Amino acid sequence: MRRPDGTIPFSVEFNPPRDAAAEARLWRAAREFERMHPAFVSMTYGAGGSTRDRTARVTGQLARETTLLTVAHLTAVEHSVAELRSIVGTYADAGIRNLLVLRGDPPGDPLGEWRKHPEGLEYAEELVRMVRGLGDFHVGVASFPQGHHRSPDLDRDTAYLCAKLRAGAEYSITQMFFDVDDYLRLRDRVVACDPVEGAKPIIPELMPITSLRTVQRAEELSGRPLPARLLQRLEKAAGNDPEANRNAVRAVGIEIATEIGQRLIDEGAPGLHFITLNFAKATTEVLTNLGYTVTATPVSA
Ligand SMILES: Cc1cc2nc3c(=O)[nH]c(=O)nc-3n(C[C@H](O)[C@H](O)[C@H](O)COP(=O)(O)OP(=O)(O)OC[C@H]3O[C@@H](n4cnc5c(N)ncnc54)[C@H](O)[C@@H]3O)c2cc1C
Repeated sequence: MRRPDGTIPFSVEFNPPRDAAAEARLWRAAREFERMHPAFVSMTYGAGGSTRDRTARVTGQLARETTLLTVAHLTAVEHSVAELRSIVGTYADAGIRNLLVLRGDPPGDPLGEWRKHPEGLEYAEELVRMVRGLGDFHVGVASFPQGHHRSPDLDRDTAYLCAKLRAGAEYSITQMFFDVDDYLRLRDRVVACDPVEGAKPIIPELMPITSLRTVQRAEELSGRPLPARLLQRLEKAAGNDPEANRNAVRAVGIEIATEIGQRLIDEGAPGLHFITLNFAKATTEVLTNLGYTVTATPVSA
C-alpha cells in the first residue's frame, strides 16, 4: 500500500542503548522519525542481562510513549522455553504484539559454534510456533538474500525460510545487502519454493554508509565484503585524506543507499527497512532523496 505522498512504507531498526547518553540519542532519533510516520520501528535483541533489561524497558516505552508501531526482536539464544515465554509476556504487558522472531547468533562470536539452551529451541521456526501459540501476535522472521552463512546451499536456505513462514510468520525482513539482484533472486526462490508463502512481504533492509569506518560495520551486518565498485566510489571520494574529505565520503554513501532504495522501489519491494544505528539524519536524507516528506497525519501501512 502506498502512503499519501505516493511513497512505499518504510521502517527503521534501532539497537538497545548501552547507557543514558545512548538512550537520549535513541529518543532524539525516534522523535525525528515519528514526524515521517514509519510503518514500524524495530528494536534488536542482544546478549547480556543488563542490556536485555534495558532493551525490554526502552522497547516498552517506545510502544507506550510514541505513536510508533513497535516491533520487538526476540532471539532464542541462551534462553529456556520458560524464559522465552516470560519475555513474550513482558512485551505483551507493554502492549507489544509484533515480534521479529530469530534464532540469534552465539554470543561473543557470531560465527562460533551454535549451542542451543538445554531447555531451549534449536531453530527460529520453533520459536515462531511457540509465539503464535501464545496468543494474538504478529510475527516476522529473518531472510537472507545471499543465504544464511550456516546454510549448506540456497535451496535449503529458502526451504527453511518457507518453513518459518508456514509456521505462522507473516513477513520477513532481509539481512542487509548491496546487490539488489540478490534480493530479487531471493524473492523468486521463495515464490518457486511455495507460491502461497511467496506472496508474503519480503522487506529489504538497507543501511546508508556515512564514513569509511561504517563500511566495516556494513560488511559485518551484511556478512559480505562491500562490492568493489561501491568501495571504489567511496575511496575515490576519500582521496588521500579521508578525514578532510569525510563530507564527500558521506555524500557518496547517501547516494549509494538512495540508488539501492530507488531500484528496490522500482522492482516493487513492499517497503524499505533501514538500519539506523540510532541516528536519524542519514536515513532521513535518503528518504528525502526518494521523495518522502514529513506528513501532518499518521500513515497506515
Ligand atoms: C532482519 C534481521 C534482524 C536480526 N536481528 C537480530 C537481533 O535482534 N538479535 C540477534 O542476536 N540477531 C539478529 N539477527 C541475526 C540472526 O539472529 C542470525 O543471522 C542467526 O544466525 C539466524 O537467525 P534465523 O532466525 O534466521 O535462524 P534460523 O531460521 O533458525 O536459521 C539458522 C540456521 O539454521 C538453518 N535451519 C533453519 N531451519 C532448519 C531446519 N529445520 N533444519 C536444519 N537447518 C535449519 C538455517 O538455514 C540457518 O543456517 C537478525 C538478522 C536479520 C536478517
